[in-house]
Amino acid sequence: MKTLNVKSVRSYDIHIERGLISRCGEIIKPLARGGKAMIVSDTNVYPIYGDTVKKSLEHSGFEVSTHIFPAGEASKQLSTIAEIYNSLADNGFSRKDFIVALGGGVTGDMAGFAAATYQRGIDFVQIPTSLLSQVDSSVGSKTGVDIKQGKNLVGAFWQPSVVIIDPDTLNTLTPEFFADGMAEVIKYGCIKSLPLFERLEQENAADIIEEIIYDCVSIKRDVVERDEHEAGERMLLNFGHTLGHSIEKAYGYTGITHGQAVGVGMVIITRASETAGITPSGTTERIENLLKKYNLPITDKTPLDEMASGALGDKKASGDSINIVLLNKIGDSFTKKLKKTELLGFISKSEL
Ligand code: MG
Repeated sequence: MKTLNVKSVRSYDIHIERGLISRCGEIIKPLARGGKAMIVSDTNVYPIYGDTVKKSLEHSGFEVSTHIFPAGEASKQLSTIAEIYNSLADNGFSRKDFIVALGGGVTGDMAGFAAATYQRGIDFVQIPTSLLSQVDSSVGSKTGVDIKQGKNLVGAFWQPSVVIIDPDTLNTLTPEFFADGMAEVIKYGCIKSLPLFERLEQENAADIIEEIIYDCVSIKRDVVERDEHEAGERMLLNFGHTLGHSIEKAYGYTGITHGQAVGVGMVIITRASETAGITPSGTTERIENLLKKYNLPITDKTPLDEMASGALGDKKASGDSINIVLLNKIGDSFTKKLKKTELLGFISKSEL
């Protein structure tokens, strides 16, 4: 088992090993303060892994209840959170009991937010089952829900007690969901690790996924330890996301995955940066080739002006400027502040 520790106001371990979910009870046991556990999961994931997790928890002596909601981003809203609160209260959960988030990013974000707020905060455990949630959303303590004005506009920073990553759960992902996570994996290579990027070029990620997950989680761990609340370095994790979020918004969040949108976002911003003489020429082509290798698109029909206006409405844009993330070279990134009025002009360089 590989273990990483994240230092925070409440530090926690991240364990990575194949088959680990069947031993989740014994991992959680020494950390738990109360005897009740609620598994929060969705209608896709619970039927596959729910029994294994439940049995392991019961074997370790926990009294287990479940809350299962309809799979999909549409569930990521306050009404689902209210239903989780009701389940917790109906089952007599006290401040010492805990939630187990079993599933992808939507599940982790919502179960975490419910944990952060029920009785002013109870413990929770992350068991991410998608590649995207294993390499990204389960680490870094962001929790939250969408409201109709935008994604993740309501939430809290709330650290899990432990993160349990079982790479075997990826075996049941569809190729599209695997690709979704690969965009974030490629992003980590771009912003922080040339060796990771080169490995993705030379090998097949699926064959070495345990090591890839470890590398990505350790990059994210290092970043969030230095800047949990996104005052500076954590912004680098938004590489490709400024435009990616706009693309997702333009689609109304259906018909395109987060990873597909982020991949296109990385391509456009890097090509613009090449034209501006900031990023060495040839960098975009390498990113494009890697995206193609992992079944991700490199172009999108959303017009650049729509991408720019979407980005300017994002919660991360404040005042009259916006931070964009660019590459000095692959493995080395920085943030650049642009005036909001300059954004469209900058990304239009991608078409020169
Ligand atoms: Mg992302």
